Amino acid sequence: MGRSRKRPRAPKSNKLPPITEEGSVVRRKEPRPKSPEKQETLPDISQLSLQPRVDPELLALRRENNQLKAERDCRICRDHEANRLVMPCGHLALCFRCSPAVTRCVCCNGPIRGIMTIFRT
Ligand SMILES: [Zn+2]
Ligand SMILES: [Zn+2]
Repeated sequence: MGRSRKRPRAPKSNKLPPITEEGSVVRRKEPRPKSPEKQETLPDISQLSLQPRVDPELLALRRENNQLKAERDCRICRDHEANRLVMPCGHLALCFRCSPAVTRCVCCNGPIRGIMTIFRT
């Protein structure tokens, strides 16, 4: 007679999961036809709003700035800013580290009669 006592397995716990699954499925079915319409319109708006953000003039200025910075760098190590001016040709292409190791100008291969240190403010 112990079976009759053990059999009641709490029917609520067995019924609860299927109810929630059905409810979630029913809820998903309702917005489905509406969501694709909204998703199609959303990317168009985001693309339009992104395009004006990228200013072509600003990009050009940034490129120019990068080029100027690259031209400022030492032609030998590219690690430090060139601040040694070669005389007499006047090329500014060496840093304080590389200038002593160079006997000829790295730009025009001209002779180095002297080196001037440039201080940028
Ligand atoms: Zn250098
Ligand atoms: Zn030179």
